[in-house]
Amino acid sequence: MSEHFSIQHFLRGTFHQGIHPPENKHFTAEKPIERLAFPPQLVLPLSQHAGKASVALVRKGQEVVRGEPIARADGFVSVPLHAPASGVVKDICLMPSARGPMVESIVLDVYAGDPQEVLYGTEVDVDAIQSSDLMQAVQDTGLVGLGGAAFPTHVKLSVPEGCVIDTVLINGCECEPFLTTDHRLMIEQAADLVAGTRILMRAVGAKRAIIGTEDNKLDAVEAIQAVLKKDDVVSVKAVQTKYPQGAEKMLAKALVNREIPSGKFPSAVGLGVFNVATATQIGQLLPQKQGVIERVVTVTGPGIERPGNYIVPVGTPIRFILEKLGFQGSARHLIMGGPMMGGTVSSLDTPITKGCGGLLILNEHQLTTEEQMKRYPCINCGACVDACPMMLNPCELGRMAHKAQYEVMAERYHLNDCFECGSCSYVCPAAIPLVQYFRVAKSVNRTKAAAS
Ligand code: SF4
Ligand code: SF4
Repeated sequence: MSEHFSIQHFLRGTFHQGIHPPENKHFTAEKPIERLAFPPQLVLPLSQHAGKASVALVRKGQEVVRGEPIARADGFVSVPLHAPASGVVKDICLMPSARGPMVESIVLDVYAGDPQEVLYGTEVDVDAIQSSDLMQAVQDTGLVGLGGAAFPTHVKLSVPEGCVIDTVLINGCECEPFLTTDHRLMIEQAADLVAGTRILMRAVGAKRAIIGTEDNKLDAVEAIQAVLKKDDVVSVKAVQTKYPQGAEKMLAKALVNREIPSGKFPSAVGLGVFNVATATQIGQLLPQKQGVIERVVTVTGPGIERPGNYIVPVGTPIRFILEKLGFQGSARHLIMGGPMMGGTVSSLDTPITKGCGGLLILNEHQLTTEEQMKRYPCINCGACVDACPMMLNPCELGRMAHKAQYEVMAERYHLNDCFECGSCSYVCPAAIPLVQYFRVAKSVNRTKAAAS
């Protein structure tokens, strides 16, 4: 370990409860980021972020160049889309998506043999951009939270009236087993990460920033420390490795001992929280006035021949990635994201979207057998209560879900504080799919609320 590293950057902070699933990061943790080839066709859903879908600016048969805006934002909670490769628009039609239903997408035939230079964008002096204009500049990049939620980043830069943000937290915990995208970004692109962090601080008016990671990534702490100045307002800290350390509320508790109240955003306690990949892309895109066209994806698991951390153009179909990296299996072996909070992919034609940082490929040995899927009655062991980081009572919530008492779950048992981390399901010896119950309950309540 180099002389840059100091024990003061190592903080044994954490939150209450949580779990310790096997990390399984060994497949890719040491693999440097590599670029994957361009696929012959890209599929770009107009809705790959939280909020309103983008509006296409191109038509069938139109030629586009790499980096060109091809869809505009539709209002404040929306983002534009940029062409990840030069090519021609083959169609604008319904295509499979990671969100489940078919969604309207721009299908782009990529020019084979094209050097694929980014021809859009101009160099700008980011320091000369007024703080008040940074929000628009970030929206123009099309950035969304790259940690999975895909919430438009510029919306998080809008500080609610009456709130003052004193600290930016950058989330580099990557507590999901298997995934190593953020880990590699912190090691290999630390300068961009810190540059992006400083832009985020200026945009929200924060005086300091803390990049938080877990103590299983001390090489990342060292890499970041090497690009910080003496007495920098940006610092880096390692907290305990524990799931779900990367959730906003858990990170705030571990790093600055602040508790985000139920139903409130981090700004309520003076915090702005962003993901490592998001901050890194801000540091790369804003000085070039460019949009998001690619991202780093961990492709991992025992079912893939060449696991690694790959730069993948947004819109690349999973089928292409698997063909390139060697895979024998079927769609039921695939999880987009990590094993705790990711979702099973139902079609190999599903494209990589901006929010997707991982593709987990299992094989028949990891798939749950029918015997393992067998559910038993609750034995009141309390393991789920001891695991829940939100101090909920998953066992009681599970009982009510079974009786479809969804509204009572929300009103009396704080269902909406559940952020679906899956810790309760993971520890349940009776194999009760608690988190699935809670997802259904929330969805039913949302539908009812929308209809009333
Ligand atoms: S899924 Fe919800 S109820 Fe279960 S442990 Fe996580 S936060 Fe608690
Ligand atoms: S962990 Fe499972 S069996 Fe134990 S109390 Fe919770 S729901 Fe019941």
